[in-house]
Amino acid sequence: MQDAVDERRRRLLTNVALGLALLPLAAAPLKATAADLPLVAADDPMARALKYVADAGKSADAKPGSKCANCNFYQGAAGSAQGGCMLFPGKAVKSAGWCSSWIAKT
Ligand code: SF4
Repeated sequence: MQDAVDERRRRLLTNVALGLALLPLAAAPLKATAADLPLVAADDPMARALKYVADAGKSADAKPGSKCANCNFYQGAAGSAQGGCMLFPGKAVKSAGWCSSWIAKT
C-alpha cells in the first residue's frame, strides 16, 4: 500500500517538475508573436476614431510626455520600439505613438 502511495507521489512530483521545466518553452511563442504583430495602419478605422499617431510629437492633442510607452494600455516591454495595445487587439502600436485614449501607466 505504502509503495503505491510513494509511486503516485513520485509521478506527481515528476509531472510538476516537467511542467515547470517546459513553462519557458510555452511562453516563448507568445513573446515572438507579440513582436511580430503588424503595426496599426494609419487608415485603420479604430486608429482614426482614436486619433492614433505613430509619433506623439505630431499630435496637437497629446499632452507633453504622453505616449504609448507610458500608457496603461501598452503591452510592449520596457524600452521596446513597438508593442501590443489592449485597444488594438492583434496589432502593434509604436511606443512613441499616442491616441486619445491615453491614460497614465499605473
Ligand atoms: S491606448 Fe495607449 S498604448 Fe494604445 S494607442 Fe492609445 S496611447 Fe497608445
